[in-house]
Amino acid sequence: MSLLVIGSVAFDAIETPFGKTDKIIGGAATYIALSSSYLANKVNLVAVVGGDFPKEDIKLLQDHGVDTEGLQVKEDEKSFFWSGKYHNDMNSRDTLVTELNVLADFDPVIPASYQSSEYVMLGNLSPDVQRKVIERMENKPKLIAMDTMNFWMDIAREELDKTIAMVDVLIINDEEARQLSGEYSLKTAATKIMAMGPKYLIIKKGEHGALLFGEDKVYCCPALLLESVFDPTGAGDTFAGGFIGYLAKTDDTSFSNMKRAVIYGSTMASFCVEKFGAERIVNLSDSEINSRVQEFIDLSQVKISL
Ligand code: AMP
Repeated sequence: MSLLVIGSVAFDAIETPFGKTDKIIGGAATYIALSSSYLANKVNLVAVVGGDFPKEDIKLLQDHGVDTEGLQVKEDEKSFFWSGKYHNDMNSRDTLVTELNVLADFDPVIPASYQSSEYVMLGNLSPDVQRKVIERMENKPKLIAMDTMNFWMDIAREELDKTIAMVDVLIINDEEARQLSGEYSLKTAATKIMAMGPKYLIIKKGEHGALLFGEDKVYCCPALLLESVFDPTGAGDTFAGGFIGYLAKTDDTSFSNMKRAVIYGSTMASFCVEKFGAERIVNLSDSEINSRVQEFIDLSQVKISL
């Protein structure tokens, strides 16, 4: 099945306790598209960059089979720029700079060839642009998933609530779930957030795994114990790409298949954190992915006779 991905395609500058980068390729849609390209049959990208965005980075996406017909290039403008600095625990970070640039007045255009995309992943972006994408799809997709962040909760809460009400799956982290719901308990937060519209909710908990809520059930996916976490930037988006990519590949939106999709999301994210930016996810082999999925299976298996 084909997957439509929207989100930022950006320059990032990252600082972690292990080092610092100048401007490197980043953005939510970049990570989602790369990650899902290993799973979904066809990935259709809707995004915008400025004339400063390197052609070889667009080619990198194309080399992964990502269709870039929906990627607008505004020659006279600058690409979105984000800069962040991680604390020593690598779980929390400060945003140092967010320059919207081309994103400030982004008007998403969905090419005719993307209109039949069955799965949609609304990556991190202004919620009114995310909503425009839903409204501009001529055929109703089978499943729409959405990511967002505290930045949009702070500056566009009303718009955000309207968009959240239109999606099937919301994917956020624990801090964002608490901010969105005003509740500390993740169980209470999940109940409140699902009452806002989404039938399913995924709460990512960084190095502590992820929770999937829906159909009055909860699934708790562990996280792999990694020897080195080098840079968590993009891990959330890479998770989202693995999750939705697996659903698009298997075309099965049951709760039990979503559990498998959460394992794929976690697998892809576990690669992402091992190197700076998207470096580790540009060149993965199927056998690497499969053996890491196997590690997750081994980690979560338990038999108890009662
Ligand atoms: P993550 O680490 O999964 O939260 O994603 C980091 C990516 O999100 C970076 O590559 C940034 O370019 C992108 N990003 C950061 N802030 C925003 C924002 N306000 N809107 C869209 N994308 C953003």
